[in-house]
Amino acid sequence: MNIQLLPSTFDTQGHATPEQRLTCFLIDESVAVDAGSIALALSTEQREKVRDIIVTHPHMDHIASLPIFIDDLYPTLKRPIRVYATQVVIDLLERDIFNWNVYPRFSELKNDFGPVMEYVPVPEGQEFQVAHLKVTVVPVNHIVPTVGLLVSDGRSTVAFSSDTAETDEFWNLVNGAPHVDALLIETSFPNSMAQLAEVSRHFTPASLERELGKLNHNGLDILAVHIKPAYRETIIAELKALNISGLDVMLPGKTYSW
Ligand SMILES: [Zn+2]
Ligand SMILES: [Zn+2]
Repeated sequence: MNIQLLPSTFDTQGHATPEQRLTCFLIDESVAVDAGSIALALSTEQREKVRDIIVTHPHMDHIASLPIFIDDLYPTLKRPIRVYATQVVIDLLERDIFNWNVYPRFSELKNDFGPVMEYVPVPEGQEFQVAHLKVTVVPVNHIVPTVGLLVSDGRSTVAFSSDTAETDEFWNLVNGAPHVDALLIETSFPNSMAQLAEVSRHFTPASLERELGKLNHNGLDILAVHIKPAYRETIIAELKALNISGLDVMLPGKTYSW
């Protein structure tokens, strides 16, 4: 499985910068997990291949350019963009984003070929298919309804925490998988901001370390994501100081293979 954290920002030469402002993971060039930077960072060629998008929760950094992505493709779509999410998240997207005020309700619109956007409500705790991938989502501990997920292509398995604080269901899901190749886990705030991390339901390096105590798998790659750009240096130094084998920071724009 190939996974790229899409860049959010670019330097004056057009190269991806290391800060992650938005969240969008591209899997095997065809499936996206969240859609923060989906309209900004895909090449024209990539744009033609991505039709399945899993949305973990409706926070802006995870959906910011989803409406723009669909808008860009609107006249040419020969099949709808499928948005996979729990029903509660679909309802929030319809109420707050695709509401005719912030953006058109694409789920009700058609181009010359048919519908342009289709919601696929997904169950919690039960495996479902997204393109060539098998996916299971479970609720995590964030301030709005949010899911973490386990994704498998039949050979490799990767877990995504999405945005969360202390949680058990996600670890039960991860520990229940026969084998996990990689864990992409959030670390939003530095240790000095533990209180803000707690109220906004995010991890710090210290709380991440405690949570990793619940992980039963060994030898997997653990990649920290969702590092707030304002505290990036501090968070990376604190993560390094944990001295956890296999723990690294995921770089936007780099393709990882498992
Ligand atoms: Zn969030
Ligand atoms: Zn977020």
